[in-house]
Amino acid sequence: MPRAPGKDKPFRLEILTIFPEIFDSYFKESLFRLARQSGLVQVAVHDLRAFTSDRHHKVDDRPFGGGPGMVLKVEPIFKAMQSLRKKANGRQKTRTILFSTRGGKLDAKMAKRLAGYDRLIMICGRYEGVDERVAEHIADEEVSIGDYVLSGGEIPALALSEAVCRFRPGFLGKYESLEEVKGSYPVYTRPEAFSPGRGKKPWRIPSILISGDHAKIDAWRRRK
Ligand code: SAH
Repeated sequence: MPRAPGKDKPFRLEILTIFPEIFDSYFKESLFRLARQSGLVQVAVHDLRAFTSDRHHKVDDRPFGGGPGMVLKVEPIFKAMQSLRKKANGRQKTRTILFSTRGGKLDAKMAKRLAGYDRLIMICGRYEGVDERVAEHIADEEVSIGDYVLSGGEIPALALSEAVCRFRPGFLGKYESLEEVKGSYPVYTRPEAFSPGRGKKPWRIPSILISGDHAKIDAWRRRK
């Protein structure tokens, strides 16, 4: 189904990271490719190293008070934010998110709420974490994608971007897929009987799905 060329304002995703290349392939495929082509979604990935002022482009430093690991510095993030503010037109409703294991848990409700903004700025942490002053003075909220620790905020940024964009009108080709939020039913495709190997029983699909009785199929799907 062709998408209507952006009547709505484009939804703008800005990502601050020290590993910008991580995002290159993902945003080029599938629904993001289409959404970017049609102007529905704009993605801008910003390398935090470009916002350093020292010769070595240092983005991290040792934690005050001691302890293991390195901490992402506040200056490059602050400078990146300043440059984004300069470029933005003031009417954009913006939300700035810092990924953190201590943040509010990403779920469909949060994704839907964030889809109501015009622009999301996502700050990806790395190392032992991000100088707490980013949470205190720069970010509007902290988001976690689950109770486990990843090495950085890049996968959380991809997960959040996709979960949020699915709530933007036109991002999904067909409306039906939105129903997934309420709980999805099992799906099957051809072949009807898949053979996992000689002498093994074929894996069959539920026969109701090929009965042609749509009322019954709907009832079955609701039950699942
Ligand atoms: N020492 C920290 C973990 C740092 S992991 C702690 O124990 O909380 C480095 C960065 O990865 C974090 O700053 C955060 O930006 C990101 N990150 C790791 N796991 C995450 C998760 N489950 N959700 C969101 N961001 C996460």
